[in-house]
Amino acid sequence: MSQARIIDGKAFAERLRARLKGQVEDLARRHGPVPGLAVVLVGEDPASQVYVRSKGRATVEAGMRSFEHRLPESTDQATLLAVIDRLNRDPEVHGILVQLPLPRGIDAGAVIEAIDPAKDVDGFHPYNAGRLALGLPGLVPCTPLGCLMLLRDVLGDLSGRRALVLGRSTIVGRPMAQLLLGADCTVTIAHSRTRDLVEECRRAEILVAAVGRPGMVRGDWIRPGATVIDVGINRVAAKEPGDEPGKTRLVGDVDFAEAVEVAGAITPVPGGVGPMTIACLLHNTLHAACAIHGVPVPEAA
Ligand code: NDP
Repeated sequence: MSQARIIDGKAFAERLRARLKGQVEDLARRHGPVPGLAVVLVGEDPASQVYVRSKGRATVEAGMRSFEHRLPESTDQATLLAVIDRLNRDPEVHGILVQLPLPRGIDAGAVIEAIDPAKDVDGFHPYNAGRLALGLPGLVPCTPLGCLMLLRDVLGDLSGRRALVLGRSTIVGRPMAQLLLGADCTVTIAHSRTRDLVEECRRAEILVAAVGRPGMVRGDWIRPGATVIDVGINRVAAKEPGDEPGKTRLVGDVDFAEAVEVAGAITPVPGGVGPMTIACLLHNTLHAACAIHGVPVPEAA
C-alpha cells in the first residue's frame, strides 16, 4: 500500500491567517471594529511564556490589537478576577484568553466562568460548551476547531463517517466529539477505561488522538486508508543516531513511522494540528468582534 498523504497543517494555518488578515482589513475599511485579543498570563511558566509571545505576535500580524497582561506568580484569585472584570468591560477587547495552567491556589474553573461568554475565544466557558453540546452556534475551542477544518479539507463531507476520538478532556476530546457529531459523523469517544481500545480504533475511518502519550497509537491500530489527526504534543528524548545527549524532540500520540504506512492521510507532529490552534484563536477573535458589534463577518477574499 502507498504511504499516507501528509496533512500540512502549517501551510493550511498560514493560508487561514492570510485570509483572516484580509477579513480584518475589510472590516476596518467598513469602519467596523478592530478586533482586540487580551491574553492574561499568571506566573513564569516558560512554555506558557512562549505560547503567549507567539499568540501576541500572530494577533498583530493579522492586523488585530494585542493586549498582554502579565501577572506575578503570587497573584491571588480575587486580583485575577478583577483583571478579567476590567477586560469584560473594555470595549477594545473582543477576546479574552487566560493562559493555562494557572498557579496553584487559583481555581481555573471559576476564572473561566468569570470571562464574558461573548469574549470567551478559547470556548471553554460552560455557556459555550453547552451551546456546542446543543448544536448551537458559539465560540468553539481552538484545537478541535482546527482539527475539523483539516478534516473537511482532506475529506470534504464528513457525513456518515465512523469517527473515534481518543481522549475526553474538556479542551480537546469532548468538543472534538461534539464537532464531529455536528458534522454527522458516527462518533465514539475512547478514554482510559475503554475496553478493546485497539478494536475500537481499527473500526474508525477518522481517528483523532488526544491522549498525551507519545506514540501510543500503533500502525496496526489504524484501519487501512483512515484519516488520522494527531493532536498530541509530547517532548521526548531524541534517540536518532548522532543526537547529542540531552537533546529532545516533539512527537505526537501516534507512532508516525508506522501509521504513515497504513493511514490514508495523517497530520505530522510538529507541523500538523499545532499551527491550527493559534490560527483558530484569531478566527474566534474576529468572529467574537463581529458578533459583539452586530456586524457580519466579512467574506474571505
Ligand atoms: P488530558 O490529559 O487532559 O486528557 C487525556 C485524555 O486521554 C483523557 O481523557 C484520558 O482518559 C485519555 N487517556 C490517557 N491515557 C490513556 C490510555 N492509556 N488509554 C486511553 N485513553 C487514555 O490531555 P489533553 O486533552 O489536554 O491533551 C492531549 C494531548 O494533546 C497532549 O499531548 C497535549 O499536549 C496535546 N494538545 C495539543 C494542542 C495543540 O495545539 N496541538 C492543544 C491541546 C493539547 P481519562 O479521561 O479516562 O483519564
